Amino acid sequence: NAPEHGTALVVGTGYGGAVAALRLGEAGIRTTVLEMGALWNRSGPDGRVFCSTAAPDHRSMWFRTRTEAPLATFLWLDVVNKNISPYPGVLDRVRFADMSVFVGRGVGGGSLVNGGMAVTPQRAYFSEMLPHVDADEMYRTYFPRANAMLGVNSIDPAWFETTEWYRFSRVSRKHAARAGLRTTFVPNVYDFGYMQREAAGTAVRSALGGEVIYGNNHGKRSLDRTYLAAALGTGNVTIETLHRARAVRRERDGTYVVTADRIDLAGKVVETREFGCERLFLGAGSLGTTELLLRARETGALPGLSDEVGRGWGPNGNVMTGRANHLWDTVGANQSTMPVMGIDDRDNPDNPVFAEIAPLPTGLEHWVSLYLAITRNPERGTFRYDPATDGVRLDWNRAQSQVSAASAKRLFDRINARNATIYRYDLFGGNRTFADDFTYHPLGGCVLGRATDDYGRVRGAPGVYVTDGSLVPGSIGVNPFVTITALAERTMSRVIAEDYAR
Ligand code: FAD
Repeated sequence: NAPEHGTALVVGTGYGGAVAALRLGEAGIRTTVLEMGALWNRSGPDGRVFCSTAAPDHRSMWFRTRTEAPLATFLWLDVVNKNISPYPGVLDRVRFADMSVFVGRGVGGGSLVNGGMAVTPQRAYFSEMLPHVDADEMYRTYFPRANAMLGVNSIDPAWFETTEWYRFSRVSRKHAARAGLRTTFVPNVYDFGYMQREAAGTAVRSALGGEVIYGNNHGKRSLDRTYLAAALGTGNVTIETLHRARAVRRERDGTYVVTADRIDLAGKVVETREFGCERLFLGAGSLGTTELLLRARETGALPGLSDEVGRGWGPNGNVMTGRANHLWDTVGANQSTMPVMGIDDRDNPDNPVFAEIAPLPTGLEHWVSLYLAITRNPERGTFRYDPATDGVRLDWNRAQSQVSAASAKRLFDRINARNATIYRYDLFGGNRTFADDFTYHPLGGCVLGRATDDYGRVRGAPGVYVTDGSLVPGSIGVNPFVTITALAERTMSRVIAEDYAR
């Protein structure tokens, strides 16, 4: 295959990849984007693009024979997961020895499957994590830009107080308040105007129809409707789907070639293609980007890459837990899938935690209060290339996860004590009360200012850039996509102004 020369190549269509694609396209640079997942724009036989969480089918997960939902059981019963046929579905669970990582697959990456919570981090913690980044500029320019482009909005507080769909949040707020804890509204990219129409019965239900981790058919401003639509609108961007980038090499003239496998809907490799480019933008996410660069370094394709590639990984301190409420404290059979409120104890110097009040929409009253806690776990893991599998291993152990669980436990013990309530034992398997063995927020592996310079330029590979979550050093204290988007905006404005001007 002769290299097909384009000016810029982007790998991945999540937040980092989508920002890169739009800003390159706008600057008039011909850009090809490779995405291993599918384009989700065609309805299945049921008239819907995505399947629902309650009745998952082949569209739910990335080449599985059974779904692997984060909440495995209910009342200890294996009622959640279903057998499915293998297909390039939208949610993947990547299992490492002691940690599994949920990621989105498809045009839009994580934006297709996530909870839409769009949170700008606290400035002090942002600066602690990324001390070399000019926080003034971030909070003045790039965070507002990211929020505007992503279509971030907030629930109408009056509607929140009265709707049955957020009773579960109000109950958790009351319990937190009894323990002296503050709650705060959490902005989201789900269109709350649409959600109110769903509640009124004038729009097709999506968030109110149990849709989230396997995709939302309506209401959510995922990247395919925002950044990626705008990128395609420039006329300079093309997206190649079901193309998995596997290798990167540098040619003598300083250009790069990415080798990608094109797969069919059965997962079979039907073609291997080479894409040449002058500049390469990696937006394959913390796992994807780190794996590509580690493999390139360890196989000698890009031997000059820094030892820092693979380091500084963390799960953003993610822990899930559930509490059992008293019979009179009903959480409601009707629950919106989009969380809008968090218990905000981030300013507690002894145990800073941000705990989102998560829905558990089963259509039945279950008295469960569910939470996704984001703790400030300082532990970090390291990815290593494994030549035997040509893949990566993650050095991260259970004791490292325990740090997150212990922090969450300190917070929820307080809430349980003041409300005379207990934890639920039936949700995560093995009678566990805290699920600290999976994360939705993989961060790091190619940390900004270490494996790259302060603008995502990869050290030892001039013309290669990282724009995704692998830049964030393992923790950011809140849900990460606004930070990833804002950092990508900052990188792209610098790279287009400086590197393309040369
Ligand atoms: P991603 O969005 O992961 O995008 C990477 C893309 O690259 C993917 O489309 C992937 O298929 C593709 N790719 C990977 N490797 C290759 C390869 N080799 N070749 C070609 N393509 C490749 N964050 C929030 O801020 N708020 C939330 O409410 C929230 N909820 C979440 C809920 C769930 C269930 C999950 C899974 C995540 C959630 N997140 C949330 C996390 C958020 O979605 C991620 O932090 C974000 O998507 C990461 O962006 P990214 O650009 O780093 O990579």
